[in-house]
Amino acid sequence: MNNCLFCKIVKGEIPSEKVYEDEEILAFKDINPAAPIHILVIPKKHIESLAYIEKEDETLIGKIYGVINQIAKEQGIKEKGYRVIVNCGEDGGQEVMHLHFHLLAGTKLGEKIV
Ligand code: 5GP
Ligand code: ZN
Repeated sequence: MNNCLFCKIVKGEIPSEKVYEDEEILAFKDINPAAPIHILVIPKKHIESLAYIEKEDETLIGKIYGVINQIAKEQGIKEKGYRVIVNCGEDGGQEVMHLHFHLLAGTKLGEKIV
């Protein structure tokens, strides 16, 4: 956990371009965008992946979707649409082992982009 990249971003030890922050949730621009809009939305709490959410995290996960929709409104993509992706584990293509939701938009998205 100490060595987690996204925990370091939460703590401000690694800089990020923040687009949203509250007590529990942080959203920032992906460093290597796969679409014109590519934002990562994460719980500040370290959860390794979707596979490791506990019962007590379910409210937080619901809030994350609310935040995603708020960001989508602010980014002007509410009507045009967007895609939310969670890669989980090795076969799911997860590279950073801190739960994150990719918010992708700004173009007609292809079949597989992250
Ligand atoms: P995953 O493949 O784990 O689902 O997605 C990890 C994402 O984190 C990738 O899209 C990658 O570009 C992004 N990423 C990796 N390192 C950094 C970083 O230091 N800063 C930011 N903003 N994004 C990062
Ligand atoms: Zn972490």
